[in-house]
Amino acid sequence: MSDPARPSKPGPTPNPESAPFWDGLAEGVVRVQQCDACGRRQHYARSVCSQCWSEDLTWVEVAGTGRVHTWTVVHRAGHPAWAGDTPYAVLVVELDAGPRLVTAHEGDLDALAVGMPVRLLARPRGETHVVVAVTTTEKEPS
Ligand SMILES: [Zn+2]
Repeated sequence: MSDPARPSKPGPTPNPESAPFWDGLAEGVVRVQQCDACGRRQHYARSVCSQCWSEDLTWVEVAGTGRVHTWTVVHRAGHPAWAGDTPYAVLVVELDAGPRLVTAHEGDLDALAVGMPVRLLARPRGETHVVVAVTTTEKEPS
């Protein structure tokens, strides 16, 4: 049952450029763009390679594993829907596949450390999914 005093969390708004990433999450995979000209992988989705400006990009599936690059702990939510979740961490994860991405975190805030291994998981939200990072030492929810 929804609580009218507590709004639901808004989800992402996929567009044609980013849809393969969001569709991948719904399928349980992580996809990033890979440049056909120079091989660089990038996230978030763009119309050109961020290194060589080639427009020849291909979506590739990558392992949803990486390491904590940095994080911040939110004590005062920027949106009322997250007010009950504070404090929570927002991570920058460096994927083993190369690109970095910003993601929510599920787990023990006190255990966070730079270089800590994490695994990305998809969580349903509205008509799409969002990505969260969990530490690989914690049991993954089924
Ligand atoms: Zn390139």
